[in-house]
Amino acid sequence: MPDFPLTGGCLCGAVRYEVTGGYDGCAHCHCRMCQRAAGAPVVPWFMIKGDHFRIVKGALKFYKSSDAAERGFCEECGTQIVFQFLKDKGASIDVTAASLDDPEAIEPTSQIWTASRLAWMHGFDAALPAREGN
Ligand SMILES: [Zn+2]
Ligand SMILES: [Zn+2]
Repeated sequence: MPDFPLTGGCLCGAVRYEVTGGYDGCAHCHCRMCQRAAGAPVVPWFMIKGDHFRIVKGALKFYKSSDAAERGFCEECGTQIVFQFLKDKGASIDVTAASLDDPEAIEPTSQIWTASRLAWMHGFDAALPAREGN
């Protein structure tokens, strides 16, 4: 179980948030919508129950990414912060684990939408030559 409260924010610093508990798991999402929204092959999300998520600086901009859900991001830099099913609004919210100040505070324990997992993602960390920096 993660050690709450946890803090996080967007790349530019305009949006800051706090998560006080209500942890309900963490999963890598391989869906095409997450891939496009992040410009990345996979997005790790952790799920929070109820009103345990709050913005402490700035504000999120929301858009409907499908008929069923909306995503919230920093209007200044574009960092994706939250995902919310419209039917669960107020009851449950998903937060991008990599936007945490300590991105290792929550570890994904499952993967979803692997039907659209990119083939080159399989074992990529072991398969490619690696450098610690750029
Ligand atoms: Zn920002
Ligand atoms: Zn997804």
